[in-house]
Amino acid sequence: MDPYRLPRHAVPSRYDLRLEPDLTTLTFRGEETVALTVAEPTAEIVLNAVELVISEATIENDRGEALRGRASMDEATERCRIDFPSPLAPGAWRLRLTFTGILNDKLRGFYRSSYKDATGAVHLLAATQFEATDARRAFPCWDEPAFKAVFAVTLAIDPALTAVSNTRILDARLEDGRRVISFADTITMSTYLVAFVVGELEATEPVLVGSTAVRVWCVPGKRQLAPFGQEIAAASLRFFEDYYGLPYPGDKLDLLAIPDFAMGAMENLGAITCRETALLVDAGAASHTELERVADVVAHENAHMWFGDLVTMSWWNGIWLNEAFATFMEMLAVDAWKPEWRRWTTFGVSRAAALSVDGLHATRPIEFPVKAPREADAMFDVLTYEKGASVLRMLEQYLGPEVFRDGVRDYLRRHAYANADTGDLWQALGEASRQPIPEVMDGWIFKPGYPLVSARLEGRELVLSQRRFTYLPEPPPGATAPADPGQRWRGPVQLRVNAGGSASAERLLLSDAEARLPLPAGNGAVIVNEGGHGFYRVRYEGELLERLLRRLPELAPIERFNLVNDAWAVAVAGLAPLAEYLDLTARFGDERDRNVWSALLGSFHVLNRIVEPADRPRLAALVRDRAARAFAALGWTARPEEDELTRQLRGDLARVLGTLGDDHAIQDRAAALYAGSADAVDPNVLPALIAVLAHAGDGARYAEFLGRFKSASTPQEEQRYLYALAGFRSRELLGQTLARTINGEIRTQDAPFVTRALLMSVDGRELAWAFVKANWDTMDRQYPKHSLRRMAEGVTGLATPELERDVRAFFTERKIDLGGKALEQFLEQLRVAITLRTREGAALSKYLAGFA
Ligand SMILES: [Zn+2]
Repeated sequence: MDPYRLPRHAVPSRYDLRLEPDLTTLTFRGEETVALTVAEPTAEIVLNAVELVISEATIENDRGEALRGRASMDEATERCRIDFPSPLAPGAWRLRLTFTGILNDKLRGFYRSSYKDATGAVHLLAATQFEATDARRAFPCWDEPAFKAVFAVTLAIDPALTAVSNTRILDARLEDGRRVISFADTITMSTYLVAFVVGELEATEPVLVGSTAVRVWCVPGKRQLAPFGQEIAAASLRFFEDYYGLPYPGDKLDLLAIPDFAMGAMENLGAITCRETALLVDAGAASHTELERVADVVAHENAHMWFGDLVTMSWWNGIWLNEAFATFMEMLAVDAWKPEWRRWTTFGVSRAAALSVDGLHATRPIEFPVKAPREADAMFDVLTYEKGASVLRMLEQYLGPEVFRDGVRDYLRRHAYANADTGDLWQALGEASRQPIPEVMDGWIFKPGYPLVSARLEGRELVLSQRRFTYLPEPPPGATAPADPGQRWRGPVQLRVNAGGSASAERLLLSDAEARLPLPAGNGAVIVNEGGHGFYRVRYEGELLERLLRRLPELAPIERFNLVNDAWAVAVAGLAPLAEYLDLTARFGDERDRNVWSALLGSFHVLNRIVEPADRPRLAALVRDRAARAFAALGWTARPEEDELTRQLRGDLARVLGTLGDDHAIQDRAAALYAGSADAVDPNVLPALIAVLAHAGDGARYAEFLGRFKSASTPQEEQRYLYALAGFRSRELLGQTLARTINGEIRTQDAPFVTRALLMSVDGRELAWAFVKANWDTMDRQYPKHSLRRMAEGVTGLATPELERDVRAFFTERKIDLGGKALEQFLEQLRVAITLRTREGAALSKYLAGFA
């Protein structure tokens, strides 16, 4: 028997499920009746269940046959086998199970979450998180995405509480002192999308989109933070109904903010659950980044209602399509809602993060065969979401947005209420576009990596060549097999040639090692990857780079972003001297685009991790030199005509000058502004002030910020002060922050990320690494399942040769598996930093000698 896939001789079509959670004993009781079709005579039924105790199992049919079964649990395979005394005949049966379970504190399955009210009293609520395979912790079920069924949920709860599930309430009555709430039938859907939340919840008034009521739910006292999330929820629902050409598949749409939540959010049909920071926000007091996060997450989950919920992957290898598509649609919806946010330009930052991991030998293809669902856990990463969304965007731009949309519509209509695979989407897009989609796309989806496209001049010809980009010529010893240098992609390449006063566009499908293109006369600047949609890097050789740098204002922001980002990657990979890149950063003094700056500042942070400590003040001087002009032009005070991105840039520059740049004037001014009226400070600048004050702060400041973290009135304020606790420089204070990551003062949903921030900081990394080593088992026990991986990513910041050796020894000795290729990727990223340090350390030191 396949240990990972359930046998298919009994298939469920409907669950009538009744659960009775008890928030005082932290347990629940359950009963369910599952309508089954038995395909062949069998005396056993196998389904998933874990951490449940099944006390009764019976089965009956309409022919009056009834049997009592004996349930036995196998914790290792998370299965329950029910044996019957005689075989069941093929046909329709009803399986009845009675069971009990626990409301765990691991933020998965049916779990408990806690929060404090204004008086400091602790309250509990119960919530669910089932993806990928944790529905089986709440009720016995066929817990695979292809076993779609209808769910009719009934919850029996304390009458003082409220309950929300996937569908609207049909009936609520009092029974033996419990409030018994019956919810309408769901659509035919997968188990991982079932949800229920029970607690003292408050909701907004509904907003109607067509006939769909959209509400936001939260714990008492936070309803005033709901309007922004509700607005994007309604706007994106409208957008998707129009884009998909299909009505919303649920009967209402609730979004719930849960105080403890392991993921960002979860697309349960009709009952989207979120972290508080991803849904609740004070729109008047939040920065652009904080608002964008809410808009992104809400739009993303909404996109899933069709793509994922209505049409679902057949098995977990298809999870990339769910997530890549929802990420792509999130961009489209937010871009349509707030064009002034220029969401596709900002998406360049996400694409860059994917290019960074995909430039490792230890990368993986977007889609790969998955046997055990556990293997798919490691798919919830930047390659699935960001690379996946990038290649979909590349394809959309290549086919044309309308053709692409038509293909998507056709795919959804054809597979509604059922399951589908990548090939089904390619087929629908192929029919809509009359193009051989798999030929173009398979190299991007089923093969790892991406090309570096080099551009050079040969006389009047532009020569483009492709080879696979990797940071290191060889993988670190003992790791993965080296990347294939002969790998080729079929890549749609868009070019623009700016010559004289005119620009001409060219489009070609790069498929061979090399392509040649005649250029017009004159010293035209050639921009490869016009519009920035391509998932590849460009290296401009010889004079081509200088021509572009001379005409920067003629480039679109995303093109300038890619220019910086690719030049940095080329330098890190040793394909160009670091000094050449550092010279390039001096050409952006007039830059006012926030994303271009994020590429520049990101590279300075990496240099800060590898620079010799003695040179650190000179690196700070270089950062001041590069950023001061732009910040001086913006000033501290927002102007009414400025857009949100410019305001956010002001915050970004103030932050980097006051921290990495160690600018005392900025630090003094930040302290003065912070001490003054907070209302007078732009919401985009306030988070920067907090970060700068932490960087320059002492014990008194730490105590103040700790107090603000604990008494924060919005989720965003709480996060700013929480992460500030990782931004101090005193070892004693950082030690206090580390202790708080495991003593219960910081929620387990946040603690791994705080530790990660400390591992990445040059002031905290030695201390944090020693702490992580000493407390690994405690963290493993306390944190949600996937969080150790997120925390361990911080080791990429431990960029000294001594730390690298110690990191490798620790993971080898402890035989730690973080799932998929995660650990290998982190170790290779660390090696990339060390290699850069070894190769360019002396040159960097020499370069910095000019700064003081
Ligand atoms: Zn998603």
